Amino acid sequence: MNVLVVGGAGYIGSHCVRQLQLAGHRPVVLDSLVFGHRAAVAPDVPFFDAELGDEEAVGAILQSESIDVVMHFAAFAYVGESVSDPLKYYFNNSVATLHLLRAMLKQNVKKFVFSSTCATYGVPQDLPIVESTPQAPINPYGQTKLDVENALKATAHAHGLSFAAFRYFNAAGAAEDGSIGEDHNPETHLIPLVIDAATGKRPNIQIFGTDYPTPDGTCLRDYVHVDDLSRAHIAVFDKLEEPGAAHFLNLGTGTPTSVREVISTVEKVTGKKVPVVESPRRDGDPPALYANAAKAKTELGWQVQYPDIESTVRTAWKWHSAHPNGYADR
Ligand code: UDP
Repeated sequence: MNVLVVGGAGYIGSHCVRQLQLAGHRPVVLDSLVFGHRAAVAPDVPFFDAELGDEEAVGAILQSESIDVVMHFAAFAYVGESVSDPLKYYFNNSVATLHLLRAMLKQNVKKFVFSSTCATYGVPQDLPIVESTPQAPINPYGQTKLDVENALKATAHAHGLSFAAFRYFNAAGAAEDGSIGEDHNPETHLIPLVIDAATGKRPNIQIFGTDYPTPDGTCLRDYVHVDDLSRAHIAVFDKLEEPGAAHFLNLGTGTPTSVREVISTVEKVTGKKVPVVESPRRDGDPPALYANAAKAKTELGWQVQYPDIESTVRTAWKWHSAHPNGYADR
């Protein structure tokens, strides 16, 4: 397949580009490089520095590269910022995606894979989360992703678009060979921050809340390896052959891991002590989020290759130890 990877220079997108190549597909990257890294994409992959909301530019790429499927990873993803600057999120995450979809329909490209999120579930009543768990986002970030899910459903019905919306849990880890990895600026995610605290790049890791109703008092999350996420995006291709197909699928390991468990795993993997500061809860953090991913397993034959936190942290450590300044080192 010729696959346009929108946001292909970002964290998850760049890993998916590599998995596409390994599976024998032909990825083409579109990225505005606002957050993406040019060095995260191999030089032999066609690269377009463009805006996903630019229908004319996208249309020209869809045509010239004979695109069969579009994967869309490009979004702003800072929950706190989405609360303080919601319009930025509505324009970039929702409106720009509608332009992308319109450009696709104009060119008769009707297969789409969308990065959605467990943030669309808000604070779930029941765990683990299944796809039918009510979606009630508690911040604009989650709402913009849910808005796109709804637009996709209607577009599938009206125009025969076939799509999969993957609801990611906590993407983590890096390519097995350590060549690409996670490099956000600013970094807000737990695993890279704990690694930085282990190496001394940051003075400590703050634990946001130690009084949650969880076994050790810290939040539980479902850390799923970025290459496992990527493989699901490719496994779904067969399902997109049927016009109007609409798939909503959780992607997680199903295993809850606490903040303290992440810290002790980083200590084990790096062999370094992590200085910890116990801090108040962070606004908007649900106590526990973890997936029931049985649907992805049954429907796609998806099997995670990194089921445990230690194997995922090992890959993150390989990347961070070789690239302490991220892509600036390359
Ligand atoms: N967390 C923390 N200290 C940090 C960053 C994160 O204790 O410096 C906690 C956060 O409260 C959450 C978990 O780690 O319970 C995962 O947070 P992250 O921001 O990586 O992902 P999120 O679950 O918010 O998408």
